Amino acid sequence: MSYPPIKITFLGTGTSTGVPMIACDCEVCTSADPKDKRLRSSIMVQSEKTTLVVDTTPDFRCQMLREKVKKLNAVLFTHPHKDHIAGLDDVKAFGYFSKKPMEIYANSLTEEALKREFTYVFADKKYPGIPELNLNTITEEPFIVGDLKVIPILVWHLKMPVLGFRFGDFTYITDANRIDDNEKEKIKGSKMMVLNALRQQKHISHYTLEEAIATIKELNVPKGYLTHISHQLGKYADVNPTLPPGIELAYDGMQLFLD
Ligand SMILES: [Zn+2]
Ligand SMILES: [Zn+2]
Repeated sequence: MSYPPIKITFLGTGTSTGVPMIACDCEVCTSADPKDKRLRSSIMVQSEKTTLVVDTTPDFRCQMLREKVKKLNAVLFTHPHKDHIAGLDDVKAFGYFSKKPMEIYANSLTEEALKREFTYVFADKKYPGIPELNLNTITEEPFIVGDLKVIPILVWHLKMPVLGFRFGDFTYITDANRIDDNEKEKIKGSKMMVLNALRQQKHISHYTLEEAIATIKELNVPKGYLTHISHQLGKYADVNPTLPPGIELAYDGMQLFLD
């Protein structure tokens, strides 16, 4: 069965502080280039029938308004860090119009965190106006959202398991610094992939620029897009031209098309 054509929109490409970072006067944070304005990392994946987002960042509301999203079928979560879940409350706007609970896909680690950090959403006595959610637990098995088959890929963020997702020939991975060999097999054959690249200097739980480039090359994916970028990486206009052919820095609003 063939995969439907999909459009990917980068809703945000910044690390947990975003770029510019509050109170920072560095040349990246004060750059006038729109490609140096990075909201927290998330993508939207759309087919003709289905719209989903991966993660709800603290910037989720602004991201939905900027992209004029009118319909959202599902949210897929990568991991429970705050920069990936904080915007969840704002899915209530979609429920207000659709009169349906939002379909949430997360592994059990993230589900526990959602129940802890959004207690009011899961309370027995709910007050009006809160988001309604329908939790779907992700295991290692592929699952279906609308007309999109999704293959979960387990990656490591130091010691925290994080989910990457493959949609047809497109793979999205954020917040990783290690991928086991058997999971690498699930990525191989992708035509495009997104991978996190925080900065040049070593980090405990994120790939560096060099490590991300090496990983994309090792996996033989012809087109690589880097995300979850810190202001420490440098300006888009300085860094992007130095990258090897086929690898680019992603930027907010960037779109990719796969048919
Ligand atoms: Zn993150
Ligand atoms: Zn994280």
